This record gives sequence, C-alpha cells and structure tokens, in this order.
Amino acid sequence: MTRFDNLIAGQWTAGSSYSRNINPSDLSDVIGEYAQADAAQVALAVAAAQKAFPFWATGSVQARSDALDKIGNEIIARKDELGTLLAREEGKTKAEGIGEAARAGAIFKFFAGECLRLSGEVLPSVRPGIGVEITREPIGVVGLITPWNFPIAIPAWKIAPALAFGNCVVIKPADLVPGCAWALADIISRSGIPAGVFNLVMGRGSVIGDVLVNHPGVAAISFTGSTGVGGRIALQCAQNLKKVQLEMGGKNPQVVLDDADLNQAVELAVQSAFYSTGQRCTASSRLIVTEGIYPKFIAAMRERMAKIKVGDALAQGTDIGPVSSQSQLEQDLGYIEIGKSEGATLAVGGERLKLATDGFYMAPALFSESAASMRINREEIFGPVASVIRVKDYEEALAMANDTPFGLSAGIATTSLKYATHFKRHSQAGMVMVNLPTAGVDYHVPFGGRKGSSYGPREQGRYAQEFFTVVKTAYTLA
Ligand code: NAP
Repeated sequence: MTRFDNLIAGQWTAGSSYSRNINPSDLSDVIGEYAQADAAQVALAVAAAQKAFPFWATGSVQARSDALDKIGNEIIARKDELGTLLAREEGKTKAEGIGEAARAGAIFKFFAGECLRLSGEVLPSVRPGIGVEITREPIGVVGLITPWNFPIAIPAWKIAPALAFGNCVVIKPADLVPGCAWALADIISRSGIPAGVFNLVMGRGSVIGDVLVNHPGVAAISFTGSTGVGGRIALQCAQNLKKVQLEMGGKNPQVVLDDADLNQAVELAVQSAFYSTGQRCTASSRLIVTEGIYPKFIAAMRERMAKIKVGDALAQGTDIGPVSSQSQLEQDLGYIEIGKSEGATLAVGGERLKLATDGFYMAPALFSESAASMRINREEIFGPVASVIRVKDYEEALAMANDTPFGLSAGIATTSLKYATHFKRHSQAGMVMVNLPTAGVDYHVPFGGRKGSSYGPREQGRYAQEFFTVVKTAYTLA
C-alpha cells in the first residue's frame, strides 16, 4: 500500500499515523494511506512558512509568476490522470473530475498573470508638497482549510492567489479526499518555489483544524466548508484578531416561470440539482415553479430523471457517481425520511442503490408538493435531493427564493426580459443565473455569496487580492 506524507519545510514528512483513502464507487478499492499530522507538525509547518515569508514576500515577482505558470501547465498536461484520481476518491464522474482538474490548472495560470498586475494608486495629498502612495502587501502565513467536494479546484483557488501575492501557505485539505491535495502539493514542490513557502498538513479538522486556526504565527484563515464549522472559525479568528474568509453552504433556488422554455428549464434543473451527485455548494435544491407550468414541469422532470444513469464514477456512460461517504449517504437518506414525514410527495428516486460494486449509491430524489417551511427546503442536504415548491406568480417566486438563511447562487428560467432583469437586481444571492444552472461558474470572476453562505472578501478573479493582500498608505515629503 503506497503511503503519502505531509510536506513540511520542503521535506516529505511521515505522519503520526495514516488513514486509508477509499473509493466511494467501490469500497474494496483503497487509493492509498495518507499521513495524519498532529499539532506538533502543524506548528512545524507554520514555523517553516514564517521563516520562508520575508524572502517570498519581497522576492522576484517574475519567479512567482513562473512557478505558478509551471504548476498550471503540469496540472493541465496531467488533467486526465488527476481527474481520474479525483473521480476515484470523491465519486464525481471522470468527465467532471477532468474538467475540475483543468479548471485548477487554469486558475494557477490566471494568477501567474495576476501577480504581475498587482497595482496601487498614487494620489496628491491634501497637504502641498506631499505624495501619497497606496500599495498592497502580502498578509503573511495563511492557513487554508478546504472541503471534500472540490478536492483540487478549491485548494487551487486558495493556494494560487495566496502564493501569487507573496504569502506563505499551510493547507489542511479535507481528510476524506487527501489524494488530489497531495498530488497538487507534489506538483508545487517541483515548481521551483523555496522550501517552506508551501506546506501540506493532512488530517482531521477536529484534531488539527483548531491548532492551525489559533496558531499565533498564522495571520489569516481562508476556509470553505459547512456553515457550522465556518461560524466557529470566524469566532476564533475574531478573538485572535485574524483576517478570515469563509465560503459555506447553500440552499440555492431555481425559479421556473410559466413563460420558460420547458426543456431548457428541466435540463438546467437536472444539471444543477443532481450532477456531481448534488454535492456542490451551488447546487439547486429548491425548484420554485409557478402554477401554470408546474404539472408539465413535474411530468418532464420524471421523464428526464428516469434517463439519469447512476454508476461507478470511472465507468463510461455514468451521469452521476456515488455519494462521497457513508455519513453523507446517511444524511441524504435521512432527509428523504424527513421530507416524507413533513408531508412532501416523493415523486422520483430517493432509495439506496445496489450496483455491481459495493459503493455509496443513491437514486437522485425529487420531492413535489413541498412547502417552503419544511426542513428539506430550509436546511442544506448536500446530496442528490431537490424539492419543488408551487407558487402563484413571479412575485411569490422571488419572495420564496430569498426566504432562506443562505445566499450563494440563485437561478431563473424565463423568456421575459422584465422578470430576468428584476430577478438579477432583487435576488439576495452572491451569484445569479438567467437560463443557466445555479452551479457552473467561471474562474476569472468573483465567487461567493451573502447571508449564511459567505463571510469576508470574495474569492477568485481579481477580487481575490482583497483577502490575500493588506493595503498600505505611504506619505512622502517631496
Ligand atoms: P466541513 O465539515 O465544514 O469541513 C470543511 C473543512 O473544515 C474540512 O477540511 C474539515 O476537516 C475542516 N474542519 C472540520 N472541523 C474543523 C475545526 N474544528 N476547525 C478547523 N477545521 C475544521 O465541510 P465539508 O463536509 O467538508 O464540505 C461540505 C460543505 O462545504 C457544504 O456545506 C458545502 O456547501 C460547503 N462548500 C461551500 C463552498 C463555497 O464556496 N461556498 C464550496 C464547496 C463546499 P475534516 O473534514 O478533515 O475533518
């Protein structure tokens, strides 16, 4: 069995123990044994990053750009292999895995250019004879904590801007899927960046997460994961006066109006509710449908969902792979029972599937006749489960779309310019989609939400510099 170690101060370092990375499509397939860091190793990684920081922060921007470009090139060249590893450890289909790997490569290449474009401002002072310069500087050592559902893209969209803007990194990926993060660390370790600039510590959040968040040598934390864990990290960062960025859960609405193109509406609902096994923070889990199109929409969804093929993530022809873990599967199946007990109608799916290999397979589920107040419409399920809410008109649909503690992504299917324009302006979400799935975003523009979905500056694109730099204002007497 191959063992994979932590990367600390440029050295591959054995863990205090190892955990097995299991393929959720086939539980007999063990991908490898991955090191578990302990508190002492996290401290070593932070110390290495602190030591490397002065040189990296003030060194050659060309060297940073070259390293990021090299990392991006290798990821893209190996996207099939990395995408296959991703599908094997997380359960996304191979095509989705390859797409995610390619995106991770593109992100590194984007920030290879972005670090050369970091700009400031020169302004006249209100006092004669004085010049004012506003510049951006790196923050220091940043702690990155990532979830299991995008095991290469999310680490990429935190690591790339962190390094581009001169910070040093200690990353703790999700314990469920350390394989992609390890592969990324291996690529980064060969990119020419100095030892200690980038460090990987694998292990459980409950064991080493707190240590990283509370370490005095860590200046800032960027976290993606559940709202519960994110909220606790925000409190810890506030107590320690650390900068913090949180990307958390969603309960994203997809509105379908009477005037929508029915086929298009069904396709985008299926795409964003069930693809990637519904395990996307931007997945649509609330389908809010006006009464004129409601019966046709339910009938068309039944027909379309009957064609979805659930199967081994690596097999040809699979549309939807397994749920990623036993506990996530139990959570999804638990919500099926909750929805039924709340009085919603289980229109399609929702049962555990037994396939050729022993895996966490589940038939995508659609509830109809659900009410906005039900737990299935208020809590993030994070699986292939969506519910349909019937509404009278656009105004009620908008009110219902906004009636949620979350605010990540929101979609509308309509042929009306009036309603599309109004929805874009009045949706209380960080990202709005017109006639597009709620999931599926570009890598060069800001990503993030409102309310319980996000906290702190946006991730990705040019906006990433808000979190990964700190502003300085300098005055000079001419
Ligand atoms: P999670 O349980 O909150 O875990 C996220 C990360 O935090 C993991 O690395 C986890 O470690 C770590 N962690 C757990 N307890 C910690 C602690 N006490 N201190 C520090 N770190 C700790 O979330 P998940 O189940 O992995 O991911 C699913 C969630 O992520 C969903 O809510 C989804 O909506 C959200 N998500 C949001 C976005 C977005 O951009 N808005 C994108 C993707 C996913 P271990 O797992 O190793 O224990």
